Amino acid sequence: MGWKTLDDIGLAGKVVLTRVDINVPMEAGLVTDMTRIDKIRPTVEDIIARGGQVVLLAHFDRPKGKVVPEMSLGHIATAVEASLGRKVIFAADCIGAPAAEAIAKAQPGEVVLLENTRFQPGEEKNDPALAAEMAKLGDVFVNDAFSAAHRAHASTEGLAHLLPAAAGRLMEAELRALEAALGTPERPVVAVVGGAKVSTKLDLLGNLVTKVDHLVIGGGMANTFLVAQGIEVGKSLAERDMSATALDILAKAKAAGCTIHLPIDVVVAREFKAGADADVVAATDCPADAMILDAGPMTVAAIVRVFEGSKTLIWNGPLGAFEIAPFDAATNAAAKSAAMLTREGALISVAGGGDTVAALNQAGAAGDFTFISTAGGAFLEWMEGKELPGVAALMA
Ligand code: AMP
Repeated sequence: MGWKTLDDIGLAGKVVLTRVDINVPMEAGLVTDMTRIDKIRPTVEDIIARGGQVVLLAHFDRPKGKVVPEMSLGHIATAVEASLGRKVIFAADCIGAPAAEAIAKAQPGEVVLLENTRFQPGEEKNDPALAAEMAKLGDVFVNDAFSAAHRAHASTEGLAHLLPAAAGRLMEAELRALEAALGTPERPVVAVVGGAKVSTKLDLLGNLVTKVDHLVIGGGMANTFLVAQGIEVGKSLAERDMSATALDILAKAKAAGCTIHLPIDVVVAREFKAGADADVVAATDCPADAMILDAGPMTVAAIVRVFEGSKTLIWNGPLGAFEIAPFDAATNAAAKSAAMLTREGALISVAGGGDTVAALNQAGAAGDFTFISTAGGAFLEWMEGKELPGVAALMA
């Protein structure tokens, strides 16, 4: 696959600069969701088991190159210590004497946590001088922060060129799942793209139609495709100025042999609120005073048939306005079907991107998917076919 893992790189007796994503939500000085911290454990434990000294490099929030005390990683050192069950030594800078002294002091099995990399003005500029200062601290670089891999920063990209570099276990799992879904997938491949607007997902749609066999378009963005084909959608969310773009995508799909699936029937309502009166109508029959807020049951049945005929599924975006019942029905039903097929071993299912994780969790389906990416922007850029600088640097 081109990148090294912890299995390919000597770690015994080495100081291992380990880039992680521990940018966790906090309230009143307390971590409110430990997921990201808990997820670094396999990589940390593996490095220690192989005789390496773990030195964590991470960003926190957006201090924009200045020292902002509220954004110090010192505030989460105790949470990291609790999650890892190991002593954590916090260094008040990510370079220079404070960092070097903390590393020198650490005993085998103890973990060093360096201060927020984004306190350094050179971090987001990928300043080679900053990367060189970081490189002085260690012998090996391990990147376990896939979610930061779409940014070429000193601690994600620059540093990878200066030391022997490898992917951590979390990065490795993410890259393997993404490779299985779009790199060299088992075909047929179906992609589901939903969500509010076509305009935010143009690159995504443009890339997918050249790579997948079936593309299911749902959510508000399906309305834009209906309008482009001359179908009236009443008061629905639709980007009427995107018609030409939508038609381009349809033409590109046709040329590439990708079958597009748009809603056949839809759920319409006059109001977007819980328990609003909702009707199912043909996608061509949205009343002038109503809004399309979900896909209908015939559409769901058609989507399930496509899933049943596919080997690989990649999913971003809900099929309807899933936050409010009953407009979550299509997303829930399709997600449950994908979960069941995955459980049966008939489907490899990969999903990701902000609202998607919430929607699949809400459907109770996330646990059965082959892989759910929580990487957000990095996952979307990968789905768009873009090179992720943090990953590319590991190939060097
Ligand atoms: P995105 O962030 O682009 O994935 O969009 C997710 C948002 O799209 C969610 O907040 C959904 O409520 C919204 N959405 C999905 N379908 C519709 C629809 N038919 N009309 C309005 N909003 C929708």
